[in-house]
Amino acid sequence: MAENKITLSEKELPEAWYNIIPRLPSPPAPPLNPRTGEPVKPEELAPIFPQSLIEQEMSPEPWIEIPEEVRKVYRLWRPTPLHRARNLEKALKTPARIYFKNESVSPPGSHKPNTAVAQAYYNKKAGIKRLATETGAGQWGSALAFACKLFGLECTVYMVKVSFEQKPFRKSLMHIWGAEVFPSPTERTEAGRRILAQNPNSRGSLGIAISEAVEDAATHQDTNYSLGSVLNHVLLHQTVIGLEAQKQLALIEEKPDILIGCVGGGSNFAGFAFPFIGDILQGKLEAEVIAVEPASCPTLTKGIYTYDFGDTAGLTPLLLMHTLGHSFEPPAIHAGGLRYHGDAPLVCQLVKEGIIKPRAYPQNPCFEAALLFARTEGIIPAPETSHAIRAAIDEALKCKESGEEKVIVFNFSGHGHFDLAAYDSYLAGELEDYEYPEEKIKEALEELKHFPKFPTGI
Ligand SMILES: *Cc1c(COP(=O)(O)O)cnc(C)c1O
Repeated sequence: MAENKITLSEKELPEAWYNIIPRLPSPPAPPLNPRTGEPVKPEELAPIFPQSLIEQEMSPEPWIEIPEEVRKVYRLWRPTPLHRARNLEKALKTPARIYFKNESVSPPGSHKPNTAVAQAYYNKKAGIKRLATETGAGQWGSALAFACKLFGLECTVYMVKVSFEQKPFRKSLMHIWGAEVFPSPTERTEAGRRILAQNPNSRGSLGIAISEAVEDAATHQDTNYSLGSVLNHVLLHQTVIGLEAQKQLALIEEKPDILIGCVGGGSNFAGFAFPFIGDILQGKLEAEVIAVEPASCPTLTKGIYTYDFGDTAGLTPLLLMHTLGHSFEPPAIHAGGLRYHGDAPLVCQLVKEGIIKPRAYPQNPCFEAALLFARTEGIIPAPETSHAIRAAIDEALKCKESGEEKVIVFNFSGHGHFDLAAYDSYLAGELEDYEYPEEKIKEALEELKHFPKFPTGI
């Protein structure tokens, strides 16, 4: 067990994605049409998604074959390495063994292209010419721009105006990969024009950008919409992470005791954890599974479990999930990718069933963990990823006290090369820890009082 870096050959790239749905103790609650309160019919999603992805969204198949064209693109950076964080272990003086799955080695620098590539492929195959999407800080927009370029699709990104102005470098990535990027709200859509008429100085929000991208897709025959997290098919595509990690751990004869990931919409966490959770559900593995979120946007730890809109504008179907209310606007922490009012319904269901344990941290202790990681293991984590690192370090410190030699494995979702301004603020001691925004969350949850509840009350 001397390895520092456990790699797989290209031949060992997974051939199928892992579908958790048929393995769950109870079937997932269906998304509802907000006007009728009835389960959404597949044809209602057809104006914005290709048939293949709609089928994957509701598929009962335990394995879904990864098309060879997608695997060909995955091979540009996959399989990704699993590292043993020996320097970090030494710095912590812990008897625990810490491993991390390194998704930062993809061209856009995160796990996001695992689904962007699959979505671009299926849309291309369905005869679609262009994909429209929204992006906050730009991680999803850059991943989709990269994927569209490889499959010869056009890509239109509605980027929240404040990020468009303050975080120019991910916009540069999108331009390099050939996407058009607009600061949202724009004059290009009805939704954007309405906002601008009310407030010409609007700096935008993710909710507004989603509305613009969905409208763009719904009003153009040759254009579909693409989402970077939350939905079942997105989580499915990310399971290459966990499937590879399982093989890598088996190679060195390790069994995880603790599995950790950060959660924004839940896709990197689910992609990493679901194959292991399947083993837990079948009694083949005993492990703790920890989902880490920011204390300023504590969806899983403080939200309520109810139907809510996936977006701020109320255009999406209603999803059963832990939510802080779709009108809740989280404080502007640096981990922009974790600022989402809800979470993937599949992740929420497993939290509800007690299989996933959620945990929340403020941003300063996360940056402290990120710095220790960068100074021991060398890689600079994305602020989102630092939440997973904080939890891994805390678990390793518990082992130091108890003397237990646990195996801790976490997902390293992305690097922080475009988040250096956040590190500068932290190093200058200027980073704020926001209070838990109790009043604002209460107000947003009030609005959900009349939304449907899940009848069986799981
Ligand atoms: C987008 C992003 C996240 C959060 O999104 P999930 O869907 O919860 O994975 C986490 N880490 C990085 C690096 C991201 O880019």
